[in-house]
Amino acid sequence: MQTRLLSPGPDALALAARLLNDGALVAFPTETVYGLGANALNPDAVRSIFEAKGRPADNPLIVHIYDRAQLEPLCTVPERAPLLMDAFWPGPLTMLFPRKSTIPDIVTAGLPTVAIRMPSHPVAAAMLEACRLPIAAPSANLSGRPSPTTAAHVMEDMSGKIPLILDGGPCDVGLESTVLDLCHGRPVILRPGGVTKGMLEEVLGEEVELAGSILRPLKPDEKALSPGMRYRHYAPKGTVTLVEGDDKRVVETMRSLCLKDLSGGKKSCVLCFSEHVDQLSGCFPHDMGSRRDEKEVAHRLFDILRALDQEGMETVYSEVLPPEEVGLAVMNRLGRAASFKTIRI
Ligand code: AMP
Ligand code: MG
Repeated sequence: MQTRLLSPGPDALALAARLLNDGALVAFPTETVYGLGANALNPDAVRSIFEAKGRPADNPLIVHIYDRAQLEPLCTVPERAPLLMDAFWPGPLTMLFPRKSTIPDIVTAGLPTVAIRMPSHPVAAAMLEACRLPIAAPSANLSGRPSPTTAAHVMEDMSGKIPLILDGGPCDVGLESTVLDLCHGRPVILRPGGVTKGMLEEVLGEEVELAGSILRPLKPDEKALSPGMRYRHYAPKGTVTLVEGDDKRVVETMRSLCLKDLSGGKKSCVLCFSEHVDQLSGCFPHDMGSRRDEKEVAHRLFDILRALDQEGMETVYSEVLPPEEVGLAVMNRLGRAASFKTIRI
């Protein structure tokens, strides 16, 4: 199959709508990452998402809508949800709702809840409106690879497997949506993202919990609240090690570890904040953005993780952000890229 990469004018959007209604897959930009969409009401179409990504069948998908009127046939809406929709939709917040039987089992991996989001990206909104369907869409990467934040990333992973990619330029947030469970008593963040714990608490007026495994691996007998957390994810092929502690010593430690690997013949580099690039010259520094701008770090992260593979890096040493607000979302992804391997100094 030839994969067309089109800028999202009226003809491309009409083509996307036709393909989606015919049960085909379309990759499209959102404000978080690129999605790989199919008609959520067509189980065969949804199955082809799992095939194209190599995604485990027990990892459920997020359903994307453009209008709240689409919710009624799909799910029931918990009492607190409209408050959050008013505040954060359209935007990078996914909520779990008790599902109705119109949603095929394959979308939710048989779970009683369905994850729903209304993206704010104008191309995503226009495509959803043009096809008039709820669209099931995970990130448009091969399973296990960093999520795509440009159309070129999608092409790397999906070329020859899908008929169309809509190119909307680089994604704004650059990390996947916040996933919030409102169905089981106290609200719980299953996956941190651009809509933070503090932002949710301010609107809800109550405490929001964080799922235990956001900053550590799942224990062998621990049940994953969100099935996606079970899987190796965001991981480059090389070994990533996080280095945490006093600023000056972190830079010194990363420098000496990287130089030692380089002199032993390994391909090695560091991921550091803009403030430290000069001090780490000679260590192939990858600039993650200013440490004072966590949103910029989020925006750059997946592109950097993908570049590490292209460069054939075998060992990578990375600075860390405080795990708060958007920094929590960054550290969840970076932590998993490192399998949470950390040197504390
Ligand atoms: P992705 O589509 O790649 O952004 O991943 C979607 C994330 O949402 C995965 O971590 C899923 O496990 C999670 N998810 C989707 N639906 C549900 C659900 N019904 N219950 C819990 N987690 C879900
Ligand atoms: Mg994904």
